[in-house]
Amino acid sequence: MTPFSYTRAGDAADAVRLGAFGGAKYLGGGTNLVDLLRETIERPSALVDVAGLPATIEEREDGSLLIGAATRNAALAEHRAVRSHYPVLARAILAGASAQIRNMATVGGNILQRTRCAYFYDDEGSRCNKRSPGQGCDALDGFNRIHAILGASADCVATHPSDMCVALAALDATVHLQGPAGTRRLKLTGLHRLPGTRPDLETALEPGELITAVELPALPAGARSTYRKVRDRASYAFALVSVAAVLEADSGTVREVRLALGGVAPKPWRARKAEDALRGGPATVQAFRAAAESELADAAPLRDNGFKVELAKRTITAVLGDLAGVAA
Ligand SMILES: Cc1cc2nc3c(=O)[nH]c(=O)nc-3n(C[C@H](O)[C@H](O)[C@H](O)COP(=O)(O)OP(=O)(O)OC[C@H]3O[C@@H](n4cnc5c(N)ncnc54)[C@H](O)[C@@H]3O)c2cc1C
Repeated sequence: MTPFSYTRAGDAADAVRLGAFGGAKYLGGGTNLVDLLRETIERPSALVDVAGLPATIEEREDGSLLIGAATRNAALAEHRAVRSHYPVLARAILAGASAQIRNMATVGGNILQRTRCAYFYDDEGSRCNKRSPGQGCDALDGFNRIHAILGASADCVATHPSDMCVALAALDATVHLQGPAGTRRLKLTGLHRLPGTRPDLETALEPGELITAVELPALPAGARSTYRKVRDRASYAFALVSVAAVLEADSGTVREVRLALGGVAPKPWRARKAEDALRGGPATVQAFRAAAESELADAAPLRDNGFKVELAKRTITAVLGDLAGVAA
């Protein structure tokens, strides 16, 4: 491990002041960052501990929810308002990691966790453009069963691993940021970047920007939501394909739908083509399958992950079928 200083931030302004120095990293629960420090993939000169910053979950009068970035994943999944109004989020969090890790992991850290691509973690034996820009990508011709089928590039095919973020994308969440230049808000769907030729640039965050909170808008009263994760083991495994869906259907017609996919792309993938195909149309299995086909039309599978294309179509169809109460 490379030596670094450690400071506990007293509040967000304090964190941003300490984090403004080049080479500083924010520390949430440490469940991802500490592993990366041990492997010397991350080599910060300073750690600014933000796990003691606000971890409140505020229910607002307009029905929205404001979640402090230091809220632990377990506390968020257990919160009454989350379980009753945003079951998609509770399910997504509980589908991830283990109880011990969810007790430690924070909302801010979950959003910014790094990919699980094995070539990214193999500092000594593998080439990785995300870790060392310009080096090449050994996943392209390697064992790429878990890699991306949508939104990848010739320089990087790694997926974003978070379950929680897939739900946040489907919920139209907004991320609150504080940085050296002040505060701003960003849609979760605009926070993570596609790799293009710069897979090392993973987010739209400016240097030193801190996530302070996540805001969830209220859902329409008639909306139903859920999350389904398909993986190799029943627990303690990242998604091969996951689907977060919010559906409002009335008399067999789709009034509103929001759909996001995990395990298939370098960022939580908002399935806008499928949404456009569904809105105002029939809430039938045939329509759900056709929408899934349209979303996956641009899929570009690699040698080992062609199965994800059909798996994603079937999972989308089944999840929407469940929410609409029609058999898939
Ligand atoms: C064995 C194992 C299995 C797992 N399985 C799953 C799974 O199935 N699904 C899943 O979704 N996740 C899984 N995870 C990942 C886990 O969810 C993440 O490690 C966790 O959410 C990261 O949160 P943290 O608070 O510990 O982040 P940290 O490790 O502290 O930080 C992660 C990153 O976020 C940055 N950061 C932290 N807080 C802030 C902030 N407020 N503002 C700006 N930057 C910040 C850090 O600088 C760092 O870059 C697994 C992890 C392990 C170890």
